[in-house]
Amino acid sequence: MKYGIISVVLLAICWTGFSSAEELPLVDTHIHYSHDAWEMLPPEKAVGLLRKAGLKYAFVSSSSDDGTQMLYDAAPNLVIPVLRPYRKRGELSSWLYDESVPQMLERRLEKYKYAGIGEFHVFGDDTNLPVMRKVIQLAHDYGIFLHAHSDSKAVENIFKIQPQARVLWAHSGFEQPTEIRRMLSTYENLMADLAFRNEHAVNGEIDPQWQALFMEFPDRITVGTDTYTPERWFYVEDHANWSREWLMTLPDQVRENIAYRNAERLKDWGLSK
Ligand SMILES: [Zn+2]
Repeated sequence: MKYGIISVVLLAICWTGFSSAEELPLVDTHIHYSHDAWEMLPPEKAVGLLRKAGLKYAFVSSSSDDGTQMLYDAAPNLVIPVLRPYRKRGELSSWLYDESVPQMLERRLEKYKYAGIGEFHVFGDDTNLPVMRKVIQLAHDYGIFLHAHSDSKAVENIFKIQPQARVLWAHSGFEQPTEIRRMLSTYENLMADLAFRNEHAVNGEIDPQWQALFMEFPDRITVGTDTYTPERWFYVEDHANWSREWLMTLPDQVRENIAYRNAERLKDWGLSK
């Protein structure tokens, strides 16, 4: 219901002539098309929702990766494939102990093109487990980024293992601006996505602490919805519009970077290899 109201408000804004927010190109860097969404939302329908949101690109990773491939086949100019190490829902913590995972990833990397590996979940010193080490190595070999749903400690460990790694920090680690600032200052190859976060902007206005973070690191932040359940797909459009609303309050350059340029750099870095 709440999102319905937001849509009506946005529609009203467009009608009164402030259409620039709607035209802002946007890349959603946190979309999943996992097996339980396939029936309810066949590829054409899912792509339809991404297009309706006016996205320039969507970074898609899925349990299993077949979901990503189906979407990519349906819309190769829109979908940026990211390789998820999960074959089905529920492998979120077991995957780190499954030695067949790196092999599966290797086979997919040989067969298809990806901008990154993830989103995966790893915390603290679990980063040092052999499966995770192999994933870090694979991303390095293929010149692609790691999409890590992790605490600061795990991200620090990734850079300890591979200082050249490039990491997109899912949900900005659910950390507060002070900690995100510390991490971004320490690791120049770290980017942070704002997926599933909404405390940074209320009623189209950015919280001052977050605003300071965006201004200090305009080239390190991306936006994303996180469609971790099939129902979340119906929120992609509202999320895009909501993002455009607060992004419009930022200076042009910062706005464009966070809306799409940072994501494009991340995509080109991997896919150009
Ligand atoms: Zn996610």
